[in-house]
Amino acid sequence: MSTRSLRVIVAGGGIGGLCLAQGLHAAGIGVEVYERDAAPDARSQGYRLNIEPVGSRALHDCLPPHLWDILVATAGDPGPGMGVFTERLRLLMREDDPPPGLGPSERTHAVSRITLRRLLLAGLDGVVRFGKEFTGYRQNADGTVTALFADGTSATGDLLVGADGVRSRVRRQLLPHAGQRDAPGVGIGGKLRLGDETAWLPREMSSTKNMILPKRDFLFTAVFRRREGGAAVAERAGDRLRAAGLDPDLLIQDMKDDDYVMWAFVAHRNELPPEPPVDLPGDLPADLPGADGRRLRDLVTSRLADWHPDLRELIGRTPADTIERFDFAAAATVRPWPTTNVTLLGDAIHHMPPVGGLGGNAALFDADALRRALIAVHRGEQELLPALAAYERAMLRHGFGAVRAATWYLRLAVLRSRAVRAAARTFFRLCGAVPALRRAVFSD
Ligand SMILES: Cc1cc2nc3c(=O)[nH]c(=O)nc-3n(C[C@H](O)[C@H](O)[C@H](O)COP(=O)(O)OP(=O)(O)OC[C@H]3O[C@@H](n4cnc5c(N)ncnc54)[C@H](O)[C@@H]3O)c2cc1C
Repeated sequence: MSTRSLRVIVAGGGIGGLCLAQGLHAAGIGVEVYERDAAPDARSQGYRLNIEPVGSRALHDCLPPHLWDILVATAGDPGPGMGVFTERLRLLMREDDPPPGLGPSERTHAVSRITLRRLLLAGLDGVVRFGKEFTGYRQNADGTVTALFADGTSATGDLLVGADGVRSRVRRQLLPHAGQRDAPGVGIGGKLRLGDETAWLPREMSSTKNMILPKRDFLFTAVFRRREGGAAVAERAGDRLRAAGLDPDLLIQDMKDDDYVMWAFVAHRNELPPEPPVDLPGDLPADLPGADGRRLRDLVTSRLADWHPDLRELIGRTPADTIERFDFAAAATVRPWPTTNVTLLGDAIHHMPPVGGLGGNAALFDADALRRALIAVHRGEQELLPALAAYERAMLRHGFGAVRAATWYLRLAVLRSRAVRAAARTFFRLCGAVPALRRAVFSD
């Protein structure tokens, strides 16, 4: 069987675009990534990313083994299954631990975004081009597609992949009718460094993921605690990295970062004051997006009056410069479209509220599914368009399934009916008490 040479143009070098590029590059398929940012570290990469087994499998399959190994070694252990508590820290339920004996590609990892980005870029010199803002595309009579960039340059290939995130320009041109649904939540998140001075934190808060389901609002906490220190990783894997032409010091540089607990407070948009409330310390401006970390922290604290003191301390002691506000949006479901030589992956097609930490995992799922489809084309086992059509079906099913799940979690978080909240708490308490029910609801 003869192989088909392919040239794949990827617009956007985020999690999904780079994971795809790694997988295609390793398979000997021609790939070029065009990223708008001027340089790899042009933007702060924010919080840790929770990688679920679906994302772990994709990374395992797309990354060369030595990079996957470093990813696992530098990741944090997210702890046993998630706990669900009341605002007074009464345990309602704890998810069961994953079954013993699972390999790293079947497990959950808390990954530093900076490290993930460095690993996804490793070995792709010449593949990823920075400072290239995609502006539009042209489909040519010979079956190729040309991507156009703001600097006046262009790139022509057999396939264009829009991996350019929430405000995707590729999506806007390919699917101008694709819209988004209102997501009524507002999220405010921060990071508290773990150390001797946080010994007062309840064990659950410093060792695992937790959901706090109070009578109003919602709090999520997760811990980023590394499995292995930087020196140990450098010692164990340094030679293999150097042999692959990679600089171990650069790759594990951010391992000097501290371990931390991150929290995300979520409230219904209409529950937060539209005007500066008189009883808040600091003058909260009407335009919340412009508010600084201290004002956001004051705002969250003002909502926690009857919460457990340890939860109030967690928010109150969080440095203001780590506190940010997040706007939530969810892509409206898109029906399948006639497949052409332009496709999409990740947030570019199915963005979702970050509640539940599913978006990055869905982008990784897409990258791996598209990689498999293109390998089949490259090997001459399938034609390009049928392979892409099958990819798009799987991607839409999985991606919009994740959008529905994230939207459901958000609805639960911002529920305003006290009666329904009480029912939700009873439901979790019941799941906590009845293992068979818990397994039936949370086993996947
Ligand atoms: C606070 C927060 C916490 C989250 N936590 C989690 C979590 O724990 N787990 C999880 O799975 N997900 C999480 N997510 C979601 C996750 O970050 C996204 O779903 C994921 O980054 C999507 O990957 P992507 O590759 O599709 O898009 P992105 O990572 O957004 O990458 C898009 C890339 O395209 C580039 N780009 C944009 N426009 C252009 C253009 N015109 N030309 C060229 N390049 C362009 C951008 O610069 C960017 O590099 C979280 C999100 C937030 C906001």
